[in-house]
Amino acid sequence: MLVPAARPHACRCSLAAAGRAGRMDSGVGFAREASVHTVAALPVEERDAEAELEVKGWRGEGVSLREWQGWGTSSPVPAMVTKVIDDLKALEKETDDQITFGGIGGKLQGSFRVQEDRKQRGVYRSLPDSEMKMQFYAARQIACRLLGSRGYLCQKCWLAMEDCMCSRLVPCALWSGIRFWLYMHPKDFLRQNNTGKLLWQVFGLQSASLCLFGVHEHEETMWDAFKLVGRDLVWVLYPNRTSTPTSVQDISLQGLFENSRDQLPQDGPQKTLNFVLIDGTWSNSAAMYRRLKEQAKGVWGEDDLPCLSLCALGVSPMHKLRPQPAWDHTCTAAAALGLLSELHLRPGLGSYALDEPARALENALDVLLDALTARRVRKGRSITRRERNHLF
Ligand SMILES: [Zn+2]
Repeated sequence: MLVPAARPHACRCSLAAAGRAGRMDSGVGFAREASVHTVAALPVEERDAEAELEVKGWRGEGVSLREWQGWGTSSPVPAMVTKVIDDLKALEKETDDQITFGGIGGKLQGSFRVQEDRKQRGVYRSLPDSEMKMQFYAARQIACRLLGSRGYLCQKCWLAMEDCMCSRLVPCALWSGIRFWLYMHPKDFLRQNNTGKLLWQVFGLQSASLCLFGVHEHEETMWDAFKLVGRDLVWVLYPNRTSTPTSVQDISLQGLFENSRDQLPQDGPQKTLNFVLIDGTWSNSAAMYRRLKEQAKGVWGEDDLPCLSLCALGVSPMHKLRPQPAWDHTCTAAAALGLLSELHLRPGLGSYALDEPARALENALDVLLDALTARRVRKGRSITRRERNHLF
């Protein structure tokens, strides 16, 4: 059967399901993956949103560079995303069936969804290799999220317009010797309760860059930067259970101090500590880490990616609103502020006042949590585990 009767959100789950099953490259059909992920299987919060939203983000237009970059990246519009959107436009014309989106994650609606599913499975099968198939999955999910969020989410804070928290966020400069990379799963892109977005909202794009998993342009930019700085200045915050993880105390600061605090970010990342934060659900993060290791092997000839482990992380402030925290037992932003706090205590870095950006991030987390909580209260949803876990 090509199209199952109950197939509510094919475009957003395929990549995640393939990744979970370790079959990103197997060419497994759409129908089988989607049948596992029906609306009934979604976490409660998403089901609520599913019933609540009726969004029509499609205006018959592609995504311009300005619109794309407005969501928090300085990259060009990914070619594969543009192609997916062009294909949607072509199909709309061909079938004379209007595209509509609905629900969180930009899910296609109505009879167009059935047509699109059939066509995209054909495209998927025609792709020559596993890498292209994987990039296609990512692009399809991102394209649908972009179009479905149009006119509904605030581009800066990724919250519904009515919940926009932008005016309450306080930017804070981060010492140019540190750069974060938010390695984000497409399923977390434009998610309202994503916390990785807070990093570039608070520190700016030069200090915290979005790298979408499976988007060639983003991954290439990130790895080009890593090639420049070298393996010794790149760490992934990921609990590596197979070997002894590196702690903040083990980080070599040799050569960093030529980088004065006043140096402009565009002077280059050669003397910058680069930290990759895996920004996805726990179940997706293993596939993301595997891909990082494979790419590290391609660049440095070895797949032993330096993993950084933090000393003490509390329960995520987002835990009560997000059943699957992104990183170990904490959310992405809390991991970043934990890292900054430990770096601040590191001899030699104390004068860079890294506790200030850490506090700014904590405040931003509070603002996000308040906004999400207020929304849930307003919608009459339950709030569980109200207690905040203050990390400082
Ligand atoms: Zn906003």
